[in-house]
Amino acid sequence: MFLPSLTFLVLPTFLQTITALNFAFEEIQLTEAETLSNPSIRFGDLNNPAPPSAEPCKVTPQDQDWPTDTEWADFNATLGGVLLKPRPLALPCYNETTVGGGSTYNATRCEAVKSGWGNMALHANDPISVRSQWATGDSCVPTGQPNSKCSQGGYPVYVINATTVRHVQMAVNFARNKNIRVVVKNSGHDFNGKNIGAHSLSIWVHNLKGAEYHADYTTSNYAGRALVVGAGTQASDVYSIRTTYNTTIQLPGGATVGVVGGYAQGGGHSSYSSLYGLTADNVLRIHAVTADGKFVTADPDTNQDLYWAFRGGGGGNFGIVTSMVIAAFPQTPLASSSISFSTLPRAGQPGLSVDTFWQGVETYFSYGIAICEEGGLGYDFIRHSTSGNSTGLTFTVSISLPFKTASEVREFLQPLRDQLREIGIMRSVQDESTNTTPDNDASISAIGDTVHHTLIASRLFQRSNFATPSSLSELRAAVRYFVEEGGYDFHGQTYNPSLETDAYDTDNAVHPGFRTAIMHAQGYERTHHWDGVEPVVPVAEQAQRHDRMQSYIQRWKEITPGSGSYMNEGDAQTKDWKDAFWGENYERLEGVKRKFDPWGMFWVLGGVGSDAWEVRGSSGGGREGLFTQDGTLCKVEI
Ligand SMILES: Cc1cc2nc3c(=O)[nH]c(=O)nc-3n(C[C@H](O)[C@H](O)[C@H](O)COP(=O)(O)OP(=O)(O)OC[C@H]3O[C@@H](n4cnc5c(N)ncnc54)[C@H](O)[C@@H]3O)c2cc1C
Repeated sequence: MFLPSLTFLVLPTFLQTITALNFAFEEIQLTEAETLSNPSIRFGDLNNPAPPSAEPCKVTPQDQDWPTDTEWADFNATLGGVLLKPRPLALPCYNETTVGGGSTYNATRCEAVKSGWGNMALHANDPISVRSQWATGDSCVPTGQPNSKCSQGGYPVYVINATTVRHVQMAVNFARNKNIRVVVKNSGHDFNGKNIGAHSLSIWVHNLKGAEYHADYTTSNYAGRALVVGAGTQASDVYSIRTTYNTTIQLPGGATVGVVGGYAQGGGHSSYSSLYGLTADNVLRIHAVTADGKFVTADPDTNQDLYWAFRGGGGGNFGIVTSMVIAAFPQTPLASSSISFSTLPRAGQPGLSVDTFWQGVETYFSYGIAICEEGGLGYDFIRHSTSGNSTGLTFTVSISLPFKTASEVREFLQPLRDQLREIGIMRSVQDESTNTTPDNDASISAIGDTVHHTLIASRLFQRSNFATPSSLSELRAAVRYFVEEGGYDFHGQTYNPSLETDAYDTDNAVHPGFRTAIMHAQGYERTHHWDGVEPVVPVAEQAQRHDRMQSYIQRWKEITPGSGSYMNEGDAQTKDWKDAFWGENYERLEGVKRKFDPWGMFWVLGGVGSDAWEVRGSSGGGREGLFTQDGTLCKVEI
């Protein structure tokens, strides 16, 4: 069954017959015959790859080898008119620009951009705009200072608004044959700016939409529920399928995050990770365009090595996914309960002492293993907060357990409440009534999709960190140091996608440390670099802030030897990135990368094989500074 491209449909019938391809947009492909008369879009040959360009760098518009305007126009004609040359969203806030020529200032449009800027939908629906503006070099953010200058910075020069596989193939072939940097943008949520690059041709997969539910999807080793999903499909596009078909589908918490882009390729956690594993563990089949421009299938029977690598190897590394098939589950009810306490006064009660607050946090941590063993999720935050003129720390957690009623969750958590009461916390605790959330990620989507923090780090805390009173106390001390001394916010996600879950296949490239982790924790910088009012923090200061956070994360690393970090919510600039994101899987991933991308076509910061390239001349200063994308991608000189 094929769906018309660019149209998002939920089919009301249960589909039994599976054709080889998932969507109509995958039927439209580039043929060898078309390329005979147009060498600029000829395919590459993985068995006999032409040597990579001898040039040390990818071409830029300043180079002689950059295609002429006529060549771009011809390319656009062959594409059928989907080539875009977008300028940054915030252009109307500037008098002076290097991307438009002349004055572009428009107060009304600038105000509109400013007011929408904190909402990810604005960025997700734009061909180039992204969440992590720092990675552009903050080259064109909305400003109240119109006399500063807007430039293209780390944004791509051209974008292909892909609506067919043919568009993706042509983009890959044109970029490879012309030695142009290629980037892939889906929802634009990536925390490390892996979705942009200066002087590049961007493949925008946002409009490769489609989602189709199958009650009885059958492969050589699977029979059951499945969701077939296109590359541009976002979490919110799938919500109605879950209710229509009474099914559970693992989705990112953020409504505008893509389902099969960075999320599924990097691992993908959901409310059900302790029960059904990561999303990557439930991918049945992948369709993608590889670096030679060919359209391939990767599943347990075909291109097994690519199939393994795509599930955990990370977005933007091995090819451009056009669709995936993901196992779905019977509707799995969740019930949840939340607890909150603070050092700030509340409801006429004095705030907790700081020591008691941290004792409470440790008490919660001591339930980590039990939450995971129940197949549940603990979703907590420790934030610096204010009340009137006072500042303090506030802890909130929502604990969701599958297959439990509200009263059973309450019963499960009663010992925790009793212990909190014993240490004097229940006096000032906010104890929300337990509520049921049948099959949705309400607890997660509550954090919203707004553009916030720009500095992030992550660590997978292991079962051993939760196993004994002394390890719990060490864990508490490490988190306390990060929050109190560092001044950062903390976000703990207690879940365990172990080898024992009901996942389809855990033999994939995800960091092995996930399997024994009890908590995936993130640290955030509390203030972000641009708040809509103040000028952007200078890049040198941003780099210092980045280094500072790295130094505070060191303490987390010290108590989690051999563990790693979640690449989708971690710092791609961490010095130990190979170990941090893949551990022992890195070497095998490098082999797959060499086989399927001998040209180094797909490059992202902290990606597999990314140490072979660097961004030169950026405002951030590369790996030793803040790795911004507003420079030229060049081979590292050995
Ligand atoms: C508000 C919010 C909520 C989140 N919630 C969760 C959550 O619940 N669980 C979780 O695990 N993570 C979550 N994340 C992290 C999320 O997984 C990452 O930000 C992820 O990289 C987003 O992928 P994307 O494709 O939507 O975004 P993009 O930024 O567009 O892409 C991310 C990376 O994937 C590559 N890519 C995108 N599409 C493709 C494709 N079709 N083929 C090949 N490469 C591609 C891009 O080049 C880039 O390198 C959340 C992030 C935010 C900001």
